[in-house]
Amino acid sequence: MSGSIQSIRDVAEKHLCTGCGVCAYLAPDAIRIVDDLDRGRRPIVSDGGASDAALADALDACPGRGLAHDVTQPAGVMPELLPEWGPVLEVWEGFAADDELRFAASSGGAASALALFALEQRAMHGVLHIAARKDVPWLNETVMSSSRAELLAATGSRYAPASPCDRLAEIEAAPAPCVFIGKPCDVAAARAAARKRPALEEKLGLTIAIFCAGTPSTRATLEMMKRLGVDDPKDLASVRYRGNGWPGNARAESKAGNTGEETYAASWGELQKHRQWRCYVCADHTGEFADIAVGDPWYREIPPGEPGRSLILARTERGRAFLRAAVEAGALEVERRDAATVVASQPNLLTTRGAIWGRILTTRALGAAAPRYRNMPMFGTWWRALTWREKLGSLAGTAKRTFRKRLRERRPVNEWKG
Ligand SMILES: Cc1cc2nc3c(=O)[nH]c(=O)nc-3n(C[C@H](O)[C@H](O)[C@H](O)COP(=O)(O)OP(=O)(O)OC[C@H]3O[C@@H](n4cnc5c(N)ncnc54)[C@H](O)[C@@H]3O)c2cc1C
Ligand code: SF4
Ligand code: SF4
Repeated sequence: MSGSIQSIRDVAEKHLCTGCGVCAYLAPDAIRIVDDLDRGRRPIVSDGGASDAALADALDACPGRGLAHDVTQPAGVMPELLPEWGPVLEVWEGFAADDELRFAASSGGAASALALFALEQRAMHGVLHIAARKDVPWLNETVMSSSRAELLAATGSRYAPASPCDRLAEIEAAPAPCVFIGKPCDVAAARAAARKRPALEEKLGLTIAIFCAGTPSTRATLEMMKRLGVDDPKDLASVRYRGNGWPGNARAESKAGNTGEETYAASWGELQKHRQWRCYVCADHTGEFADIAVGDPWYREIPPGEPGRSLILARTERGRAFLRAAVEAGALEVERRDAATVVASQPNLLTTRGAIWGRILTTRALGAAAPRYRNMPMFGTWWRALTWREKLGSLAGTAKRTFRKRLRERRPVNEWKG
C-alpha cells in the first residue's frame, strides 16, 4: 500500500484519522461521522455528494493528515517550552472557584470554569464540547451547552472516541461567539476550519484544549464496563472515567442501580492499551493550537482527598486576556508557575513527543502512511529527550507495531449500527 494521502477516505482507511469530525462539518453532503467500535469516530464518505472544493477544504483542515504551525510565533512565547510544548505565554496552576464544578471535573475544573465565565460574564452563546450520549451512555456526542447545569453534566474526561468538530456548524450559525473545548487534534481542526470559513472564525470566541495522551477505542470502554460489573451494554445507566474527586475513580452504574468502581490508574492502565494508532504518531498532546490548554499538574504526589487542580497554559494573547479576566472576576483561583512545572507534570508526554521522529521515520520507510508536521521540531526532541534505549524503541518497536497492527493495509470503516 502506498503511504500517500489524497482524500479523507485515505486518511480513515490508512489509519491516520483522529476522529475529530471536522471533515463532516466542511463537507456535510458527502461525509458523516459514525462509530467504529474498534477504532473510533470515523468518516463515511459517499461518492458524488459534495463539491470538490468542499472535499479539498476537508482534507486541508484534517489534523489526521498533518499539522502546521505558522513560521513565526507570537512575541512573548516561553523559549524553553517552544520546541516540545508549543507556544506558551504563561503557566498557571489553579482550580474552579465553584466547588461543585471543581469536584465533578477531571482535574481542577479549569475548562468548565472558563466556559461558565464565558457564558455568564462574556455573553457568549454556548460551549461546544463532549458529553455522554443520553440514549447510549457508553458512547459520546457533541453538545452545545448554554447553562451551568449543562456544563456540570459534561464535566470529566471521557477516555473514548469523541468528535466535537462534527457540530461546528452550530458555532458558525450562533447569534454570538462560542467556546470550543476539545482534545488537541480537535482544536487544531477547528482552527484550521476557521481559516476556511470566515463565519466560523468570527464566532469561535475561545478555544480550550485538554491535554491528551491518546484516545482508546469504544471496545476499551465496553471491556471496562465488564470489569465494573455491567456485562450487557444495554443495562448501562451511566459510565464515568474519572472526576468526582481528583483524579477520581472510573465508575459504571447499571439501570438496576448496581455500581462498580476502579481507580483512575487501574482503568487508564487498561484503556491506554487500546489507543487508536494515530495517537502513537501525534506530535501535539498539549493543545498547541488552542487559546488555553489544561492538564493535570502531576508534578507531585497527590494525597487522597485533595480537591482537584489544573495546570493551565495561556497560549495566545486572547487566551491570556481571557484567563486574567476570569481570575479577576473570581471564576478561578490561580498561582503562577514556571516552565519546569510543565515538564515535571507531564514527563510521559515529553517522551512520547520525543519518540515521534523515530516512529514516523519507521512507518514511512515500511510503506505505511504517516502524518506531516510543519514548523514542529521532531529530530531535536528525539535526540535530546530520549535515552538510547527509547530511541531504539521508537524505531524497532514501531516496526513491530506496523506489522502487528497491519498499518500497511487499508481498513474500511466498520460502522456500528446499534
Ligand atoms: C482521551 C484523553 C486523554 C487524556 N490524557 C491526558 C494526559 O495525558 N495528561 C493530562 O494531564 N490529562 C489528560 N487527560 C485529562 C484532561 O486533559 C484533563 O483532565 C484536563 O485538565 C481537563 O480537566 P478539567 O478539570 O479542566 O476539565 P473539566 O472541567 O472536567 O472539563 C472537561 C472537558 O473536556 C471535554 N471532554 C471530555 N472528554 C472529551 C473527549 N474525549 N474529547 C473531547 N473533549 C472531551 C468535556 O466536554 C469537558 O468540557 C486526558 C483526557 C482525555 C479525554
Ligand atoms: S481526522 Fe478528522 S477530518 Fe481527518 S478524516 Fe478523521 S474525522 Fe475527518
Ligand atoms: S493523542 Fe493526539 S491525535 Fe490522539 S486523540 Fe489525543 S490529541 Fe488527538
